[in-house]
Amino acid sequence: MERFKALVLTKGEKAPEVRWTELAQADLMDGDVTVRVSHSTLNYKDGLALTGRAPVVRRWPMVAGIDFAGTVTASSHAGLKPGDQVILNGWGLGETHLGGYAQVARVKGDWLVKKPETFTAAQAMAIGTAGYTAMLAVLALEKAGVTSAKGPVLVTGAAGGVGSVAVALLAKLGHRVVASTGRSDQKSYLESLGAKEIVDRAELSGPAKPLGRERWAGAVDVVGSHTLANAISMTKYGGCVAACGLAQGMDLPTTVAPFILRSVTLAGIDSVMAPREKRVEAWSRLARDLDLAKLDAMTITRPVQDAPALAPDILAGKIRGRVVLEVP
Ligand code: NDP
Repeated sequence: MERFKALVLTKGEKAPEVRWTELAQADLMDGDVTVRVSHSTLNYKDGLALTGRAPVVRRWPMVAGIDFAGTVTASSHAGLKPGDQVILNGWGLGETHLGGYAQVARVKGDWLVKKPETFTAAQAMAIGTAGYTAMLAVLALEKAGVTSAKGPVLVTGAAGGVGSVAVALLAKLGHRVVASTGRSDQKSYLESLGAKEIVDRAELSGPAKPLGRERWAGAVDVVGSHTLANAISMTKYGGCVAACGLAQGMDLPTTVAPFILRSVTLAGIDSVMAPREKRVEAWSRLARDLDLAKLDAMTITRPVQDAPALAPDILAGKIRGRVVLEVP
């Protein structure tokens, strides 16, 4: 495929200009592996990049898309050969390196993870960066010793992408999941993923007390700001909160009280630069611990060309679960 189509962002006055347009392989950036992309996905960060709401894109023009799944077509990387099915999350894709909303991508082989056979490429992208981040958060809770015997686990932004996968994973692992959502109409959806208790997000979105009532042994927070502060202040003695998002805000108005009086751990979760071993571990645990029927139930599929129209919706918290983008 010498010439191929891609969703290209060029710098605009207020927001980027977005076009589904033709590129040549010569336009691609350096890399030792070329991939025919079959699927990508819509993540919160893709919403930020496509709308220009935050300075995600740091090279212009840019091909959007922070992740993809596809098949290797050419490789000079020792570990990869044509025909291998691969996944890429992060590493600056769609930010500093041309991204996944394209029929062809050229990347560093070291960035790629082989797709577990358990998943189709579409399912791998139903998980996408959001679901892989949810797994990283679950791994952090496990590392901190959060077990189902110690108490429930809170998931904030539960009806979104990271939240939905986190609820399904934690429920399958035997945790009692408390799901916080602003969408009361999604109660039965969250229960179908395994949530046992639903908390209105308004309960957690105001200023936190230094120490609140001890309610959960752990939390996966995608919301940040006051919500994260409340999640921390209501964590039981010795518990852990995995912080991975900023849907409410980037600030963290908390005190040291939960850390010095309750030995609470705050675990930071970054998916973009996560080392390779961590990625391989996360993807193999997803293959083991994610219920594929629940994954399918939380996913809708759209053509990649629809991404710009969907971008404002994900930033407004209107997308439920995950969106797979099919690359023609
Ligand atoms: P989604 O938009 O799918 O989900 C976010 C959810 O947060 C919404 O569905 C909504 O859930 C809730 N929410 C939205 N706005 C607010 C608000 N103002 N106050 C409280 N809750 C709100 O996004 P993703 O799940 O893909 O991503 C979630 C967050 O995680 C983002 O901030 C993203 O940047 C971050 N992220 C971080 C990664 C990392 O490497 N650290 C990787 C991937 C994502 P509900 O309707 O249930 O209340």
